[in-house]
Amino acid sequence: MTPAVLADLVAGAFRPAGGSTVASVNPSDESDVVALVPEGTAASARAAADAAAEASGTWRSLAGPARGEHLYNWAGAIGQRADELARAMTREVGKPIVESRGEVARAVVILRYYAGEAVRAVGEVIPSQAPGALQFTLREPLGVVALITPWNFPLAIPLWKAAPALAFGNTVVLKPSEMSAQVASLLAETAVAAKLPPGVFNVVHGTGPNVGTPLLEHSAVRGISFTGSSAVGAQVAALAARRNVRFQTEMGGKNVLIVARDADLDAAASLAASGAMRYAGQKCTATSRVVVVREVAAEFLARLRAQVERLPLGPVDDPAAAVGPVISARSRDSIATALRDAQPERLFGGELPNDARFARGYFVAPLVIRLADPDAPLAQRELFGPVLGVFEAEDLDHAIDLANRTPFGLSASLFTRDIRSALQYVRRIEVGLVRVNGDTTGVDPHAPFGGMKGSSSGSREQGPAAREFYTETKTVQINP
Ligand code: NAD
Repeated sequence: MTPAVLADLVAGAFRPAGGSTVASVNPSDESDVVALVPEGTAASARAAADAAAEASGTWRSLAGPARGEHLYNWAGAIGQRADELARAMTREVGKPIVESRGEVARAVVILRYYAGEAVRAVGEVIPSQAPGALQFTLREPLGVVALITPWNFPLAIPLWKAAPALAFGNTVVLKPSEMSAQVASLLAETAVAAKLPPGVFNVVHGTGPNVGTPLLEHSAVRGISFTGSSAVGAQVAALAARRNVRFQTEMGGKNVLIVARDADLDAAASLAASGAMRYAGQKCTATSRVVVVREVAAEFLARLRAQVERLPLGPVDDPAAAVGPVISARSRDSIATALRDAQPERLFGGELPNDARFARGYFVAPLVIRLADPDAPLAQRELFGPVLGVFEAEDLDHAIDLANRTPFGLSASLFTRDIRSALQYVRRIEVGLVRVNGDTTGVDPHAPFGGMKGSSSGSREQGPAAREFYTETKTVQINP
């Protein structure tokens, strides 16, 4: 059966985008075409932004609780199709089904959380110099916001942007990744089923150059939230700065797990293995480096090996698979090229089993390598695959120096039982998400999320931080 060509959601109705298409394929089996995705045009981007602009006045004047009610209804519509959404996600982006189910559940939580937040567009009262005057701040929506999202969390990322944007009175145009467009289409269907007012949430399919750029250049767009690679993030930031439009860019990472000499080595090995290998290392917060203090390195590595070997690689229609494929042939090949060029010392793993199932998809066998030069490309670049690099450090101080020595600053964890070590690390580590005795992955939807240095433009998503981004402050002084 020929897969359907996806349609854009504009002003509450599905519209064919026309033009040429690209295939979104199942990364476990590339012969399985999931959907045909329009490459899109400047006209389709314009139509979606126009619809969002048209809906803006009514939506922003709706009372917060009423907007919250819409988000609750949307959460319900997603809950009703949870199984279908999880299966579609697993098929389209190669996420093991247990994790896809987790992401759908999280999507519901995000919408419920922001349904409550819709009443909290709070300002503050600030005593005035003017005698008798009442001075306060008001928070107002930006207007139309454009959301550009990657494929790796195809429900959670669009929603952790769209839910606060809508809660605080903005209207939205989402441009999802071409590689997760089927899931975005299902998300659009749930918005229609939940009876979100037409034009409040629009979805426009297409490539970055065809649709992303014209969308971001549309004069109605007053806010841009982007998640994706650092290279594209830099272009988005330049465009937004030129237009003087508020923006946030959340980008790559080279996340680190540090093992101190007093660490619980079993716990550290287990979370390093799952953080590095689950979902084939394609979470932005995946553990891609371990820095272990030399004294315990041999013991730790033996445990790490056992833990990695407990995570089977396989096509994601196999429920036992913990590590699925990477997203594309391009991604698989770029990981292979980086390894071939660097010729790192292999500690263990990296051999694809001789099994016909692996010939159909984009599989990379979990691999653990030794890192020696902190400035080498493998220690600096995000690979976005199931490859973990291990450094040995003299002591904790040296470990933190090595941990900080990348252009990125998204997430880190330290395993220790010593409060002074934990405090020293919390103060010195240059990342936005700091864990002690935990994994580098996973976030609470009600806690601020984002990176430092090259991982982010510096603002935060989720939790109350999202309110800062999606509202503008007016300072009001009323004199007697
Ligand atoms: P990508 O940068 O290739 O694409 C992201 C989005 O940008 C897609 O929708 C794409 O179509 C669009 N795009 C591409 N060129 C564009 C242009 N010129 N103008 C406007 N839009 C354009 O990233 P990806 O491969 O989809 O995602 C993987 C990357 O995302 C990794 O680097 C990962 O670390 C990062 N990521 C970061 C976070 C975070 O919160 N920090 C979360 C998830 C993923």
